[in-house]
Amino acid sequence: MPDYRFSSAFQAPTGSVIRELFKYLSLPGMISFAGGYPAAQFFDRTALAAASAQAFAEAPLDCLQYAATEGLPALREQLSLLMGRRGAQVSMDQVLVTTGSQQGLDLLIKVLLEPGDTVLVERPGYPAALQALRMAGARVLSAVTDRDGLDTERLAAQLAALAPGTVRLLYCVPTFANPTGACLPLARREQLLALAARHDLLIVEDDPYGALRFSGQALPSLLELSQRSDDAQGRVVHLSSLSKVIAPGLRLGWMVAPDAINQRCRIAKQTVDLCTSPWAQQIAAEYLRGGALEVALPGLLAGYRDKCQRMLTGLAELEEYIEISPPAGGMFIWGKCRQGVSAQALLEQAIERRVLFVPGAAFYAEAPELDSLRLSFAAPDLQQIDTGLERLGEAFKRL
Ligand code: PMP
Repeated sequence: MPDYRFSSAFQAPTGSVIRELFKYLSLPGMISFAGGYPAAQFFDRTALAAASAQAFAEAPLDCLQYAATEGLPALREQLSLLMGRRGAQVSMDQVLVTTGSQQGLDLLIKVLLEPGDTVLVERPGYPAALQALRMAGARVLSAVTDRDGLDTERLAAQLAALAPGTVRLLYCVPTFANPTGACLPLARREQLLALAARHDLLIVEDDPYGALRFSGQALPSLLELSQRSDDAQGRVVHLSSLSKVIAPGLRLGWMVAPDAINQRCRIAKQTVDLCTSPWAQQIAAEYLRGGALEVALPGLLAGYRDKCQRMLTGLAELEEYIEISPPAGGMFIWGKCRQGVSAQALLEQAIERRVLFVPGAAFYAEAPELDSLRLSFAAPDLQQIDTGLERLGEAFKRL
């Protein structure tokens, strides 16, 4: 075999811990609280099939041909309207369509960071962001969170202690975070933007879950707040996705960024995939134009509310073993095993009993809290949630 030479980032890369767990999914009878998979039973198959047929009938050549790198105008227009309904004023020219919001983050890293640059990420935080940043050679600093998300007081102290200009970027998931489910309160959002202005920071607001609120009042996104503030204007890049509200199989996300960043990301995207699948874009544009998302959303939210409630009810029975913070939306519940029980040891017992979750270690840039874990209530049905939690209870008893 030739002695292949790899780039420094790929000498000995480690894959995603969550994806490593997928091998257990094929074990018969396995119930998974592991992935961030949306519920298959909520996929709006009828309306998507209709949108798909319509898209192809109306514009077959647009579906089949390459398209502009920034995305199809029809979809960008719908996404700008969607952003407007969510509260931010965004023109279609400001929308860059991406192949999933994951690509948005990757493009930003390409355009904004040099190896060795410092990036702040919530602790615990989204592993694929940590992975992408690490591969780019970024120095990742943890920003402390509590059950309300980023602790902006501590962030203020952390930033004040660093030399000016040290932090290039702050990446966060302020609304129904992955993994904690936390939603950053308004006062903290405002403080975060004030810190961005004071320390000349760019904030990446990753928002795939914001539309999945099933209790409490909607809060403005960081993007919306930044638009209302003279000091914070232009300091937020907003990433979002159709994966969690329509279907991840579309692989459609988008970025809203200041012009100088948007243009560079568009050019970076030219060398990544030329353009996002025009066929998928046409289908999504058709689906959104027909108002199908607004029709489907209430049912989706009710469905996730029921699942979350069912999981919280089941977890209340396991209170002696695990402490959790209930989310108001999204797909995740974050837990801490009591008495320092190791989530990895628990996982081994759990797999034997055919239930999966993600041990918390995957979500830390350094010094992982080994007693933490993430449970997703999104994909399993109500019966599976009950059975899975019974099995988890048995696993706890064995430790
Ligand atoms: N950001 C966060 C916080 C996520 O949880 C996910 C999906 N797991 C993504 C981005 C990527 O989503 P997409 O399917 O749009 O690439």
